[in-house]
Amino acid sequence: MHFLSPQLEKYIEESSENEPELLEELSRETHLKVLQPRMITGHFQGRVLSMLSKIINPTNILEIGTYTGYSALCLAEGLKKEGELHTIDINEELIDLQRKYFEKSGFGAQIIQHTGDALQIIPTLDINFDLIFIDAEKREYPLYFHAVMNKTKPGSIILSDNVLWSGKVVEPVDEKDKATMALLEYNRTLKEDPRVATVLLPIRDGLTLSRVL
Ligand code: SAH
Ligand code: CA
Repeated sequence: MHFLSPQLEKYIEESSENEPELLEELSRETHLKVLQPRMITGHFQGRVLSMLSKIINPTNILEIGTYTGYSALCLAEGLKKEGELHTIDINEELIDLQRKYFEKSGFGAQIIQHTGDALQIIPTLDINFDLIFIDAEKREYPLYFHAVMNKTKPGSIILSDNVLWSGKVVEPVDEKDKATMALLEYNRTLKEDPRVATVLLPIRDGLTLSRVL
């Protein structure tokens, strides 16, 4: 979903850091070979994730929703030398493609892939994460939030993607539209939960930045 004119989007991209070559290649291969390539993080949002991760300089990152690994590689750019990124996806068909690019990137040894339902896997990770990126099943965002809060510490940052859901969050909503209903609940929770401070950034399809107090 694009909220800005194509002209402005192009200008914003051109005025931001270039997309690394490896990520261009991953994006091309995803569009050629994988279903639903519009789910991939693109050039601009990828550079935002990379920049945020470099500012935070995390030791431990958790990603929920790996897809072909684009956002994982952007987040890995900010990892401390001894740091690790744990990424979870339910689709086992994507593992080999993810691994191919993780290895090519030089972050291969620091990225741990988990395959399965995020809600089953998160409780098994005995780590306090500095940075968490939530980008899997929209209907489960409220449950992801409660699951990951147990894996944070004061100062941890939670990034949540697609929170504007193509603008559906401000349109009349059908109660059967479970994704939009869940995102409305999720955005309200992030605003109201006293354990986090939140700003919703209008980056691409909406990217919320929450800081654990
Ligand atoms: N973060 C990726 C895009 C993720 S797309 C990027 O920016 O490039 C969403 C992913 O969530 C899909 O690959 C899908 O397989 C995964 N997913 C859906 N439901 C899930 C679940 N219950 N547990 C873990 N992953 C899930
Ligand atoms: Ca996304």
